[in-house]
Amino acid sequence: MNNEKLNIVWIKRDLRTQDHKALFEAEKSDLPYIIIYLIEPSITSYKDTSQRHLQFVYHSILKMNDCLSIYNRKVEILYAEAYEAFSYFTEQYDINTVFSYQESGIDITYTRDKKIKKLFHERNIEWKEYQRDGVIRGINNRMGWDEAWKITMNSPIIKNVFSPSNTSNLQHPFLLPSSIKHSLEKYNRNLQPAGEDNAWKYLKSFAQDRGKNYHKFISKPLASRKSCGRISPYLSWGNISIKQTYQFVNNHPNKAIYGRAFSGILTRLKWHCHFIQKFESESEYEYQCVNQGFEGLHYSNNNKFLEAWKTGQTGFPLIDASMRCLIATGWINFRMRAMLVSFLCHHLDQDWRRGVFHLANLFLDYEPGIHYTQFQMQAGTTGVNTVRIYNPVKQSIDHDPEGEFIKKWVPELNDIPKRYIHEPWTMTRLDLAFNGIESINYPDPIINLKERGKAARLKIYSHRKTEEVQKEKNRILVLHTRNNTSKAI
Ligand SMILES: Cc1cc2nc3c(=O)[nH]c(=O)nc-3n(C[C@H](O)[C@H](O)[C@H](O)COP(=O)(O)OP(=O)(O)OC[C@H]3O[C@@H](n4cnc5c(N)ncnc54)[C@H](O)[C@@H]3O)c2cc1C
Repeated sequence: MNNEKLNIVWIKRDLRTQDHKALFEAEKSDLPYIIIYLIEPSITSYKDTSQRHLQFVYHSILKMNDCLSIYNRKVEILYAEAYEAFSYFTEQYDINTVFSYQESGIDITYTRDKKIKKLFHERNIEWKEYQRDGVIRGINNRMGWDEAWKITMNSPIIKNVFSPSNTSNLQHPFLLPSSIKHSLEKYNRNLQPAGEDNAWKYLKSFAQDRGKNYHKFISKPLASRKSCGRISPYLSWGNISIKQTYQFVNNHPNKAIYGRAFSGILTRLKWHCHFIQKFESESEYEYQCVNQGFEGLHYSNNNKFLEAWKTGQTGFPLIDASMRCLIATGWINFRMRAMLVSFLCHHLDQDWRRGVFHLANLFLDYEPGIHYTQFQMQAGTTGVNTVRIYNPVKQSIDHDPEGEFIKKWVPELNDIPKRYIHEPWTMTRLDLAFNGIESINYPDPIINLKERGKAARLKIYSHRKTEEVQKEKNRILVLHTRNNTSKAI
């Protein structure tokens, strides 16, 4: 054992160097400290994680290290289970304190944290975990939550400064295998670029100009790509904090001009924390219906339909364009996300669990706390929110009237005239011939939309009335709303 006294900063979903409480407190303490990020095989091989997430994390760390290198500091990436790594460090060094943010994660990270807590306790190590954004640990209702959120958002932003490190190079046996390192070094340029500097670029360009039509275009699959904040991957992986984002938008001079747009995004920053708060209270939402009264609902779960949905081959142009765009770029807007889930669970009659990891893998901004609860809201299994069954043809006519988004992602339909782009199957042979089209190399719709929509409405609305759902509804309202009787937020 090396008798050197040491503190550790454990980076999780907080991949930034500013407004960082754990780094700040480590600096303040008298002891030298190291900064680590753990790539834990048992966690990264879980079905919610994809290569694009890991690459985003890796490149975010490289950006952090660009900032830290002048202080002779870096985020050390360790390829190890947390238990293994911390056991090693506690045997090799005299570890005093571990600083990190609280993580509102899925079951496996929660179980890991409990195991680590026990280890630290046994070895007399203090673990200081700080509140992440506006998410409060250990509450069992929402009394005072809104007020607390506001206070947090308006509290001073931490200005991190770093002292030069004298600690020699950290020796450990957890080097990232070179094959994994190579695979992480690659980055798909069609995805948003990682890192703190890019988070600020996106946020600044939103406030400067891009966001002026935020509220007008939020549901448009094409226009929203420019007018939405596009800050979700940065918030999800912590390249920027909610507080930094909130204060930047709220104090921006353009707020006076683009008031409606700015208040729209500020509200959603609160939703971000609100959804994670739900998950913090009940992380079972990853695999269990929010309203357990829906566990008894039967689905036909057709594999062919599922595969067509996953690959963008359903024969419904806006559904397929959205899925293919997501596969290629890692982002689609809220309305298209909601429509994809609604189509899967209602029209295709699939249990939400059959699609939830597919989208988690594709979203570059995958955030467990938002993802599972949002997915279930759209699947209709919360029992407290209004069920919306989106008609993909109507969505297409309303939000992509010219079919521009569709044609970009479903090029098989490039020659189809505008009046048929939302329902290409309605073209007769004569219509095809008249438009000089020999045939369309695009699947026919895999279901009858009208019949399936009607059946789905009947199924979900009648199940909502059952005793089990109603009983659960009251429990959910107590846990997630302010006055226990109001609608869920
Ligand atoms: C089925 C489904 C799954 C989703 N999964 C995720 C996810 O894994 N990660 C994620 O960040 N968002 C998720 N969302 C919410 C939302 O679609 C995205 O946050 C938003 O599209 C991100 O784009 P943006 O940064 O341009 O958002 P903006 O509209 O510019 O909003 C700014 C920020 O507010 C937050 N926000 C916006 N809308 C919502 C919302 N409805 N609920 C909660 N927070 C919101 C996000 O952090 C977002 O980055 C999901 C929505 C649905 C319907």
